[in-house]
Amino acid sequence: MSRIVMKFGGTSVADLDRIRNVARRVKREVEAGNEVAVVVSAMSGVTNQLVAYCQQLSPLHDAREYDAVVATGENVTSGLMAIALQEIGVDARSWQGWQIPLRTDDQHGKARIESVDGNLLIQRMQMGEVPVVAGFQGIGPDNRVATLGRGGSDTSAVALAAAVKADRCDIYTDVDGIYTTDPRIVPNARKLPRIAYEEMLELASVGAKVLQTRSVELAMKERVRVQVLSSFADADGGDLPGSLVVDEDEIVEKEIVAGIAYSRDEAKVTVRRVPDRPGIAANIFGPLSEAGINVDMIVQNIAADSTTDMTFTLSRTDLPRAQAVLEAHRDTIGFAEILSDPSVAKISVVGVGMRSHAGVAATMFKTLAAKSINIQVISTSEIKVSVLIGSDYTELAVRALHTAYGLDAA
Ligand code: ADP
Ligand code: ASP
Ligand code: MG
Repeated sequence: MSRIVMKFGGTSVADLDRIRNVARRVKREVEAGNEVAVVVSAMSGVTNQLVAYCQQLSPLHDAREYDAVVATGENVTSGLMAIALQEIGVDARSWQGWQIPLRTDDQHGKARIESVDGNLLIQRMQMGEVPVVAGFQGIGPDNRVATLGRGGSDTSAVALAAAVKADRCDIYTDVDGIYTTDPRIVPNARKLPRIAYEEMLELASVGAKVLQTRSVELAMKERVRVQVLSSFADADGGDLPGSLVVDEDEIVEKEIVAGIAYSRDEAKVTVRRVPDRPGIAANIFGPLSEAGINVDMIVQNIAADSTTDMTFTLSRTDLPRAQAVLEAHRDTIGFAEILSDPSVAKISVVGVGMRSHAGVAATMFKTLAAKSINIQVISTSEIKVSVLIGSDYTELAVRALHTAYGLDAA
């Protein structure tokens, strides 16, 4: 007998037929003698619609009310899934984040999990019941619902798996594993049977949406065995054909580049003609960080006079708030104007092999140059190189790089 957490993403629960299909899959795991807890996302498109409602009413809406609105998508699916399971003879009960409780910090809209009580779920599973937990949500220190950031149901699943000491955390989605890049952009991307935690963490953090970054972070810390697999393929049970996220030393054949990711959720901001003197970066980025806005790539351009331009990237959804924060600090920063460009994309190549192999960045720059793609900003880390380009070139860049690093399937 194993204890398994099964998480189903939005497309896997997109309509009643798919919910029934998922319920049958859960039933098979239960009938195989396993203790099962289920985590569900909102039905495909629902969260986007709820986010859009908030934005249309107010671009700078209250984050607590945003959470009150967007958390409802998962409430619906957890109830529907419990009904679908009961209908086929599986004892099931839905649970919302506050009922577990899954406690978070106070960062509404992108809260981090602080603790998860596994007792209730363990008790229920031991009674032969399948708990169906609404993903993406918990309860904050203010006693209000808090959501975990887009894609957060993955993190709910891994956190619950750690709390109930599950043998596996299976993340069911609309692709049958983790690929060398998004298979929707590069049809001949290769499926990776195994990927190192660190590589998956880096790929997720630069845009590979298949797993939320924090879910990988948590899995790595808590040693949760995460498997990504399709809810549409026929396979089920122990012999699962998905991709496993594992320790680096469990991977025999290491490639220099494990994968390529892109993110279109970026925006570029240039703060023009700020005084070039000590403290200016602190004056710009201090208030942004206090407002909970994460800044990613940063470049400071050298100017001929005593001023400079500071360019940085951030999540596109944070752009209106960042502009408001900078305007509010116009006097202390002393800039001439703020330019913003939402039509940018970040392309990243990731691989632990970069630690010991030179030339990965040079190959990237040459490949993009050969396609006449202009690089606007560059940033690197130990196992990653990222570039910012015009978003229209995203597909072209990802495909060219995938070929250049020899990742295309034979
Ligand atoms: P879910 O709704 O199940 O959480 P997501 O849309 O969040 O699903 O994540 C799955 C999607 O991630 C896939 O449909 C695919 O387009 C995308 N994706 C991006 N990068 C990768 C990758 N390297 N491997 C697999 N899928 C990827
Ligand atoms: N429904 C949420 C979202 O779309 C959480 C998730 O699906 O993981 O971001
Ligand atoms: Mg997801």
